[in-house]
Amino acid sequence: MSSILVVLSVQDGRIKRSSLEGLTRAVSIARAKNLDVSAAILHSDALSLVKEAAQYGATRAYCVSNPIFNSHLNAPLISGLSSVIEFVKPRLVVVASTESIKDVLGALAIRTQAAVLSDVATFDIVDNAVVCERPIMAAKMMAATQSSEPLVIVSVRSGSYEAVKLSAEPAEMDVLSVPFEFDSSTLSATLREIVKSSGEAVDLSEAKIVVAAGRGVKDAAGKALIDELASITGAAIGASRAVVESGLFPATAQIGQTGKVVSPELYFAVGISGAIQHVAGMSNSKIIVAINKDADAPIFEVATYGLVGDCFKILPILNAELKKILS
Ligand SMILES: Cc1cc2nc3c(=O)[nH]c(=O)nc-3n(C[C@H](O)[C@H](O)[C@H](O)COP(=O)(O)OP(=O)(O)OC[C@H]3O[C@@H](n4cnc5c(N)ncnc54)[C@H](O)[C@@H]3O)c2cc1C
Repeated sequence: MSSILVVLSVQDGRIKRSSLEGLTRAVSIARAKNLDVSAAILHSDALSLVKEAAQYGATRAYCVSNPIFNSHLNAPLISGLSSVIEFVKPRLVVVASTESIKDVLGALAIRTQAAVLSDVATFDIVDNAVVCERPIMAAKMMAATQSSEPLVIVSVRSGSYEAVKLSAEPAEMDVLSVPFEFDSSTLSATLREIVKSSGEAVDLSEAKIVVAAGRGVKDAAGKALIDELASITGAAIGASRAVVESGLFPATAQIGQTGKVVSPELYFAVGISGAIQHVAGMSNSKIIVAINKDADAPIFEVATYGLVGDCFKILPILNAELKKILS
């Protein structure tokens, strides 16, 4: 077992929190087993992100600096990641289970002849095997999976580990540039524009606070209360499938088995019953506050704090009190 390579996904010029979570876990495994942890950064200005990788415990960075990585395109990403993996020859590659990575993971596995353990909630190295747990059946159960192949890639669900900065001042770090050439005239697809859904001020999958609405929110007046709570707390807005299907919230806000997986520090579930398909997407949240008029609603089984009552009565009071505290 030689080294662990953690791929750091970048969004809006910053390393994604989910990548730093994977890096923190890799560092803790490496320390226990005396291994190296390197970071792979593919970005137009990869060198500017090296310091942050060092603060989170990476001892070496492999940088591929190329403007082609500023927006997501499968072909260059597969090619760039394959180049780094072939250059580094790690035993284990750790990636965050983001939408971009999900898009390329199969091709990357074929290109590098790697075994893939995808969407895992835990990972470790035991003897010569990479051992993981993966939620199945809408996160009702965990499946234990492992691989002893010479190269294993694990994609890690956001919120599975806490990202821990080890030092304000980065430790010394080796920085290597990986040779990479990509002929953009071979691209069969180009990305012309990323259209953010209206109201998506905060990225749902990376948000620290999420305010999620369900059928109990009912109508535009209920939605206005949700918008107000999100604006006061700086939260991203999520939704159950019921209110996405009714058209009250956009499909991009759906959380759950067939929506996004979120892992904020604070999750407000307002008028959401807590069906397993919804809980599958938010059960990794650190603190869950549920507001529901039915005291027997299943959401209270996963909630940290429960408020039993009508959200149309509770939210105006909660919003007013939070406004006093936070403004
Ligand atoms: C294959 C499959 C995939 C699915 N994927 C997803 C998914 O990704 N995400 C998802 O969310 N769902 C998903 N679903 C749907 C899921 O099963 C539920 O139907 C859905 O989550 C219910 O949404 P809800 O909780 O908003 O609505 P409901 O189940 O109708 O619950 C509404 C809740 O609001 C409460 N309420 C009503 N009025 C008020 C009030 N005034 N104040 C406070 N509380 C009130 C009620 O007591 C109730 O608990 C999926 C289903 C299937 C079959």
